[in-house]
Amino acid sequence: MKTNQVLIRYGELSTKGKNRKSFISHLRENIRQTLSDLSSFKIRAERDRMFIFCENEREMEEIIVRLPSVFGIQSFSPVIECGHEPEQLKVTAKEVISKLDTEGKSFKVTVKRPYKAYPLEKLEIMKEIGSHVLRNFPELHVQMQKPDIELKVEIREEAAYLMAEVIQGAGGLPVGAGGKALLMLSGGIDSPVAGYYMLKRGVRLELIHFFSPPYTNERAKEKVFDLAERLSRYGASIKLHIIPFTELQQQVHKQMPENITMTSTRRMMLRIAERVMKEVDAKAIINGESLGQVASQTIDSMHAINAVTSAPILRPLVAMDKLEIIDVAQKIDTYDISIRPYEDCCTIFTPANPKTKPKLEKVEHYESYLDFDSLIEECVAQREVIKFPRVDKKEFEDLL
Ligand code: ATP
Ligand code: MG
Repeated sequence: MKTNQVLIRYGELSTKGKNRKSFISHLRENIRQTLSDLSSFKIRAERDRMFIFCENEREMEEIIVRLPSVFGIQSFSPVIECGHEPEQLKVTAKEVISKLDTEGKSFKVTVKRPYKAYPLEKLEIMKEIGSHVLRNFPELHVQMQKPDIELKVEIREEAAYLMAEVIQGAGGLPVGAGGKALLMLSGGIDSPVAGYYMLKRGVRLELIHFFSPPYTNERAKEKVFDLAERLSRYGASIKLHIIPFTELQQQVHKQMPENITMTSTRRMMLRIAERVMKEVDAKAIINGESLGQVASQTIDSMHAINAVTSAPILRPLVAMDKLEIIDVAQKIDTYDISIRPYEDCCTIFTPANPKTKPKLEKVEHYESYLDFDSLIEECVAQREVIKFPRVDKKEFEDLL
């Protein structure tokens, strides 16, 4: 008895022809990428479901571990192969059911028999297996309409195939099916969560991080690398753009009245982000802002900061409470990285009394005294680009 295939049910799938095709091809590509270090699997995509075939038992286990982080999968079921003999079918059925919670559950067996020369009829197979299962699991009861557990048996010429376990997928849409956007990734708790939510809606991400050495150190950068690595688990491969931000930040602090430096710094970040967004052909900027959290996240601040760009700014966390965000951060394993105590460029330059209602005209007026354009160009040109996962999984395995 062994699992040599997995059946995948699609997530939220639009019924329209072109969207369906794009959904399926992105999902297929993302699964291929997630499993790229495994040697022996095949994917077959059909209109309503997808199969992964793999003869290597250890790799099959790994596939089952990795599939729950791929967006676009509603659920999946390991399929178990066994011989034709009724005795083998019964033993396998028992084993399949024993992995499930059976207490007080309803149950039925369905049989497909494409192997027409098989000596037993469909009904006979159903009865044999059904009564064997009920003998072994007396807590189950039979229910033909919408049972909790459906044991599916398929008799093909080469073997028989059984499945009953349904494993929850990540839901959402396959990454890439929803276009591309640039996520402003700080080392904090919020922005990785914002990225996760957008990946879940099928958006492919590139990341931008503003880095201000020597005010922020290599440890802070390492933290951002680790967050990017985590996000790449969900988003296949992801590029991170590190912007050297020190010079620009110092100029803002030298030239602008202290209480609007924060507003102006954020505006400069957005201008740089917009330039990178265009270069990488992304169509929106994402950040981790949530209304009212800090001075830069009031409606008035957002208005004054946002006015510097015409790029769409997506704020998936805007109406979430901090505790809700922390909950998700823990679930996606970014929380422990985010709370490492290294300063972010914004924390260090935060003025004592930042304006919560900055006046756009005033900010624009002060900014007009400085040639920010060339500073911005410099930041964009000097950026460092790193691809995640950092070492290609295949290369990594070859190194071992
Ligand atoms: P986070 O936990 O994501 O850092 P926060 O509540 O600490 O959020 P801020 O630090 O004020 O809030 O930042 C708001 C948003 O601006 C962040 O969610 C992020 O998208 C972006 N941002 C802030 N600092 C940086 C940075 N150094 N590099 C890139 N983006 C940044
Ligand atoms: Mg922060």
